[in-house]
Amino acid sequence: MKNAWSDMSEKTRKDVFFFSEEYMDFLDAAKTEREACAYFTSLAENEGFVDFDDVISGKIDFKPGLKVIKNIHNKSFIAAIIGTEDPENGLKIVGSHIDSPRLDFKPRPYYEDSGIGYIKTHYYGGIKKYQWVTIPLSIHGIVIKKDGSYVDISIGEKDSDPVFTISDLLPHLSQEQIEQPVSKFIPAENLNIISGSLCFDTSDDEKDPLKKCLEDYFKKEYDIDPDELLTAEFECVPAFKARDLGFDRSLIAAYGQDDRICAYSAFRALLDVKEIPQKTCICYCSDKEEIGSVGNTGAQSYALSNFIAELCNFAHPDTAFISLRRCLANTKLLSADVTAAFDPTYANAYDKTNAAFCGKGLAVQKYTGARGKSSASDANAEYLAEVVNLFTENGIPWQINEMGRTDLGGGGTIAQYMANLGMSVIDCGTPILSMHAPYEISSKADLYYTYKGYSAFFNS
Ligand code: MN
Ligand code: MN
Repeated sequence: MKNAWSDMSEKTRKDVFFFSEEYMDFLDAAKTEREACAYFTSLAENEGFVDFDDVISGKIDFKPGLKVIKNIHNKSFIAAIIGTEDPENGLKIVGSHIDSPRLDFKPRPYYEDSGIGYIKTHYYGGIKKYQWVTIPLSIHGIVIKKDGSYVDISIGEKDSDPVFTISDLLPHLSQEQIEQPVSKFIPAENLNIISGSLCFDTSDDEKDPLKKCLEDYFKKEYDIDPDELLTAEFECVPAFKARDLGFDRSLIAAYGQDDRICAYSAFRALLDVKEIPQKTCICYCSDKEEIGSVGNTGAQSYALSNFIAELCNFAHPDTAFISLRRCLANTKLLSADVTAAFDPTYANAYDKTNAAFCGKGLAVQKYTGARGKSSASDANAEYLAEVVNLFTENGIPWQINEMGRTDLGGGGTIAQYMANLGMSVIDCGTPILSMHAPYEISSKADLYYTYKGYSAFFNS
């Protein structure tokens, strides 16, 4: 297996670095699923995409070449370019997710102890809790005001903003802590974020002066009342910026690359579809993948099939139900999600002969799952061959892999839920080092070929 950099022309290398810059700008601007949704929606609008709800209502005519975007509760979306063919012949979909592991505020998060204000969190997704202490954190979210308006919150991203952090015990006093297994080293209830300390001098009858301090901050900065904070949705994420990694700047270190690296690549690939396609091309960015693709914004919901049902209804208003079933059965989908890159420091966790490597191109997985392929979407050989042949014909470096050593663990993607609908599905995405850590690592070459691979799929 060749290194993806080795045969790269000077021009392609320039393209790789340029594309990476744009991707890193996106990562800094979109650290939550809501922010990613808003970012893509605004890009889509600039490219002439229209709101699919206006097409359903008849305000805009449905026709081939139309570019549409369907918002799903501001946390996931479907962008599509309508093709000339009957949807019963199937669609082309690249499906990814835009949620990432993080720390969410508890419903009643604020408390004070020993002169310090804290925010209690409940972690979201699979995290190693010890990685989330003593790093700078930012707070992102929304507050719904009593009049129904939204206020977007982002604190800790601008250089002039304060940041937040979780304390850890000093080594000098850690004898007992370090003897714990790592899974117990930092218990979930220790993930309390330091939010301030300034308000000691309030009068003694003032209850929770630090909570008051926080309420005052939101009133002053955002004109938000304390009772409006009760229903707010806040997510804490690493305050790091996406950075070039290494002397040669060939790698990217950033938060949330799982799975925004595939989401971004898929979306950019859709924007590159310039001719009216035969088959409708869809970029589906789902939410809640990190907690099982559940809920009305997750890939297990009806959101995607509802969208497809509407397409079928335009084509076959009298037989939309059976059209939908035929369409789903004939649809081809790339499950665009990251995989583990082989980490030589932890070689024992992998089967090296079946691992994906950083810098060796787009990783294709026939199946995911754990313990005897449990919960896997195991792609059929015919579809696997079709997809990898397409990559080869288009000069896309690709590698076939399985995530780690058998029976060590494993994981799933949205693939199984898409396959349940009858679609042909295969997992393919970018290899990542330190996946789910606050600072994940990807290769710029792999990013670029992920984008090029999805682009080849849409244009095939
Ligand atoms: Mn993922
Ligand atoms: Mn993940």
